Amino acid sequence: MSALKTPVKAIKTEGLASPQTADEFLMRAALREAERAAAQGEVPVGAVVVSEGRIISRAHNQPLHLNDPTAHAEILALRRAARRLGNYRLSGCTLYVTIEPCVMCAGALGHARVRRVVFGAPDRKAGACGSALMVLNHPRFRPRIEITGGVLSSACGAMLRQFFVERRHKNRHANAEGERGLQTPSGPLQAGEVPKRS
Ligand SMILES: [Zn+2]
Repeated sequence: MSALKTPVKAIKTEGLASPQTADEFLMRAALREAERAAAQGEVPVGAVVVSEGRIISRAHNQPLHLNDPTAHAEILALRRAARRLGNYRLSGCTLYVTIEPCVMCAGALGHARVRRVVFGAPDRKAGACGSALMVLNHPRFRPRIEITGGVLSSACGAMLRQFFVERRHKNRHANAEGERGLQTPSGPLQAGEVPKRS
């Protein structure tokens, strides 16, 4: 791994007791990013990229604010990490994200050559790490990327569900003109279901 090009406000995780503890610790950092997205009216998804036990980038979902359909938390976090490292390959890095990556993000993770992906809530409708599709680690997909799912899954899923419930409630009472662009997914959410993020 190449040296960092710019100083990073790092969180060291090397002293944590177990990989599970470290995963949960880092997923909480991703959850804080998701909270930032929710505060901005974006679907609450957050991601961090970790290199050698340090967080080197953080990002949250921003398609609405950036007018960018590709501005998922994972994509933004990968871009920032690559800039920090001065390398478009993120070999050895781990990406933590609060919801299972979609097809687009799974493809980007492959291009970035991350070593590992850790996600929170599975996305049964659109998850591309085994729930709806298996893009990462598809037999034709190289390189192999280690996948760990379900880390703080309840907290990650609850944040999404709460966001959509609140948004639906708001939409019901809002002027349709003012709420244009904030489409609520159709149909009631089932228990444990994670809505599509965009
Ligand atoms: Zn995505």
